[in-house]
Order: sequence, then C-alpha cells, then structure tokens
Amino acid sequence: MENKTSYKEALNNKIFSITSQAAKELNVKSYVIGGFVRDLLLKRDFKKDIDIVAVGSGIDLAEKVSSLLPKKPKVQVFKTYGTAMLRFEEIDIEFVGARKESYTENSRNPQVETGTLEDDQNRRDFTINALALSLDEKDFGALVDPFNGVEDLRNKIIRTPLDPDITYSDDPLRMMRAIRFATQLGFTIEEDSLTAIERNKERIKIISGERIVDELNKILSAAVPSVGFKLLHQTGLLHIILPELTALQGVEEVEGQTHKDNFYHTLEVVDNIAPNTEDVWLRWAALLHDIGKAPTKKFSKKVGWTFHGHEFVGGKMVKKLFERLHMPLNQKMKFVSKMVMLSSRPIVLSQDIVTDSAVRRLVFDAGEDIESLMTLCEADITTKNPNKFKKYHNNFKIVRQKIVEVEERDHVRNFQPPITGEEIMETFGLTPGREIGILKEAIKEAILEGEIHNDYESAHAFMMAKAENMGLKIQNN
Ligand code: ATP
Repeated sequence: MENKTSYKEALNNKIFSITSQAAKELNVKSYVIGGFVRDLLLKRDFKKDIDIVAVGSGIDLAEKVSSLLPKKPKVQVFKTYGTAMLRFEEIDIEFVGARKESYTENSRNPQVETGTLEDDQNRRDFTINALALSLDEKDFGALVDPFNGVEDLRNKIIRTPLDPDITYSDDPLRMMRAIRFATQLGFTIEEDSLTAIERNKERIKIISGERIVDELNKILSAAVPSVGFKLLHQTGLLHIILPELTALQGVEEVEGQTHKDNFYHTLEVVDNIAPNTEDVWLRWAALLHDIGKAPTKKFSKKVGWTFHGHEFVGGKMVKKLFERLHMPLNQKMKFVSKMVMLSSRPIVLSQDIVTDSAVRRLVFDAGEDIESLMTLCEADITTKNPNKFKKYHNNFKIVRQKIVEVEERDHVRNFQPPITGEEIMETFGLTPGREIGILKEAIKEAILEGEIHNDYESAHAFMMAKAENMGLKIQNN
C-alpha cells in the first residue's frame, strides 16, 4: 500500500483519461470509487469492473464517454437506478450519479435524490469501499478519503462510514458483505460493527435468498471459509440463514461418552477443500456433508452415540435447503445431495478389507463424481493424531488405487447396460413387463458382484442361463 495521496500513475488505463475529458466537456466532476480503488491500494488482482461516480448525471457521462471511445461501445442504461454501463477492453465500467439515500423500514431499496460526492461516500457500506480518486484534470488521481479508509486498509479493519446500527439496519445485506470482506481480505470487523450486526441480525430476513447465497458463495470461495462461518455463527446470522449447520454445534455428554462437535469439524472439512472459484459446489458439499447428524443423533447404552442413516437424511435435507434459499435445483443441487449421500462410503471401504465388488459398487454409484467424492473424504480427515492422519490418508490411497484397477478392468464408471431392454424383448418375444427389469437388474448385479465381465458376450451368456431358470423361451422368427 502506498502512502501518498495521488494515484495518477496507477490510473493509466485509457478509460480514465477519456472519462476525465468527457466530464470536462459536460462540466461535471467525476471519480473512480469503491472496489477498484480499494483493490488498487491493496495491490490485489484487478477484478474487471470499475465504478465511476459523476457529480451530475451518470447516464449522460456514460453516453459522452462512449462517444469519445474509438469503437463507441453500446451503453446499457438502467433508468430506475440512474446508472449506465459500458464495456471497454473486457472491463465493465459502471457510471452512477452521486446520490443521497434514505431508507424505509421494510425494504433495502432506498429513496434516492441527487447529492454531492460526500453524500455518495456516506451511502457506501465500508470506509475501505468509500475511497475515491478524482478524474478531474486539475487534480487527476487525488485521493478523497473522508473516513480514513486508507488507515483502515493499513490496519485491516472493516468499519462503516456512519453509525453501524444505521448502516446495517438500512441495508442488512451489508452484514453479509462485512463478513464476506473480512473472510476474503483477512480483515477484522471493528468491535462496534460486530455488535451492531448481532443487534440487527433479524433484519437479514428482508434479504432475498439469492443475495445471501451470492455472499455465501464468495465466503466459500475464499482461502479460509471457516473465518466467515465463525463470524456468521458468532453474530447469530448463521442460525437464521442456515439453522441446519448451527444444529450441529455442541458436544453432548451422556454417561461419560461424548461425540465430536460436528459444526467445527465441518468447518475444518470445508477449509481442507482447495478453493476453486470456478466451482464452489464441492465446498457446499463439504459444508453440508454432516447436516443429517443433528436429526439422527441417538445415544444408546450399548454403542454410545450414533447417527444412523445421517447420509441419506442429509442428502434429502440438501434439496429443502436449496429450495429455501432459492438456489438452483439443477445438476449442482443433485451433485451436492449425491456427495452428502455417498460421503461415508469410501470410509467404510478404507476400514475393511476392500473387496473388488465393493469398489465397483462405489464407482457405479458415484459415476463421474468419484474423484470429487474421494477429495471430500480426504478432506473429512480432521484427526489431530498424526499417526491416525497418516494411516487414514494411506487407506484412501489404497482405495484410489483399487478404483483405478477395477475401472480399467470393468468400466462401470458410466455404466451402460451391455444388453438393452429391446434386445431382451426380441430374444424372448416379450412385451414390456417386469421380466425385462428382472433380467436387466440381474445382469447389472452379476457385473457389480464380479461374477461376469462387463461385456456383451459374458452378459449374453449370463442372460440365457438366467432366462432359462425363469422359464423363458427363445423366440424363433
Ligand atoms: P467485489 O466486486 O469483490 O464484490 P466491490 O466492492 O467492487 O467488491 P460491488 O458489489 O461491485 O463490490 O460494489 C461496488 C461498490 O459499491 C462497493 O465498493 C461499495 O462502495 C458500493 N456498494 C456495493 N454494495 C453496497 C451496499 N449494499 N451498500 C452500500 N454500498 C455498497
């Protein structure tokens, strides 16, 4: 982070000089503001969108900028919000007129009136997001930092420009954003802010599931997501948005027997999955892999604590949770649910003497997702005992090796029945009915059990023998 107040050199993209010229022609002042400035000062990767505020009409400025650019890019206007956007060299540039906002109780959509730069900085969520650099030719690159945002950047602090109770109550999404930025940037939320989040937590209920999930996805894509989930838990937000997770917290003791705290265990598992911003779904699977444990928890004198069938129950809960948060109910949801349902299978394999048929069944059930499942299971090893840690990882190595061997031989990963229902009907002169299902199932079972190879010849011979047993006759035509 540099400690001088002009960032002229850094504003070397053509878009800034053009905006400066356009603003001059319109006789308005303009500033680059928000995330771009924050990330510039933090020397963070530039994330391909830039916010520009005009003290005047943002839409007029956007039109003017476009007219001065060589290719005159199309300007997308959002009249209701008074904003306009254009694309320049793969960068989204958003223009907005400086404004003053006032909020009502039941909505996060404020009443808006035109305002000064200061008004506009006041409506920003955090001091580090309210930094602006002038694009005026007289003081091009000068930093405007009314809330000591630079100092907060240096001290790694998330702080609101105004009274945090007002900031969070006005737009409760900011509570999620505070925790998300703390997680992404490794910053601390200032104490007053943190207690204000706690006080205003119920306000999160006016925020749509989609927006909450956007923030959760960003937390899950960060290097260490547990930071965010601990803050969500500590402030009471998690209990409102994901009660399935907080239900896992705590250690119960009956007759001297305890179980592990499945909430903190879950967070370790999530952290253990390498971040991959392209695909956040395996981290969702890690986050939800134990949610079935709260409703299935039982204590019995004989065996102590059990969570029988938690994988199945958890897998079902995934769908309900996705529905509640308005998440996509497509392949991604099915993937997460499937991972939860299968999450204990490789562990069972690694503990017993592994038979080929058990491995084949796992590959059959997991299909394309076998790799992801193994990654999840390895992440699930959170033991602090180094000997056990090594042993469990070794066991999974053996399972992985077995998977490769079995797959090379039997190709059940994307299992296609070697004999179709149609061929069965033709061979025995059958019309659609239960015999076909019985034969197909018997062939599949024989392959998975390793009684026959997964090829046409073996399957055909097996089918003929089985059909004879069932009293079916070959059709001659
Ligand atoms: P990122 O792109 O990583 O989410 P960002 O800060 O650019 O970071 P945006 O959501 O693009 O985030 O918002 C741009 C700027 O708009 C922010 O830096 C902030 O100044 C302001 N802003 C965004 N959302 C809010 C909000 N809910 N309340 C107040 N100001 C906000």
